[in-house]
Amino acid sequence: MEYSRARAFLFCDFCGTMLSLKSTKYAECPLCKFKRSAKEISEREISYVVTAEDIRRELGISLIRDQEVQLSKVKKKCEKCDNEEAEYWTMQMRSADEGQTTFYRCTKCGHKFSEN
Ligand SMILES: [Zn+2]
Ligand SMILES: [Zn+2]
Repeated sequence: MEYSRARAFLFCDFCGTMLSLKSTKYAECPLCKFKRSAKEISEREISYVVTAEDIRRELGISLIRDQEVQLSKVKKKCEKCDNEEAEYWTMQMRSADEGQTTFYRCTKCGHKFSEN
């Protein structure tokens, strides 16, 4: 979905391949094994990162400001309040083979839920 654009800051300095987040500590280039610390990534342009809240929780950082987060909206029924619209973002889980999870947040009541 929006994954590669959302993580555009995560490219390898040497070969341009998209790094994959291996843990909360570092991301690694699948081709040349270049590693970049998650902290360094978080200090880069992160304004368009989908999930400031999740990254903050994952990395234990607080420098991302909420107003910089731009989420896309999608027609999705909230199980709590029956509102028909939710904001969504996707996150790659720890390894590529675990696939990515889509997170939703109800635009009305703020209820959060996820989907694989
Ligand atoms: Zn590389
Ligand atoms: Zn709701």
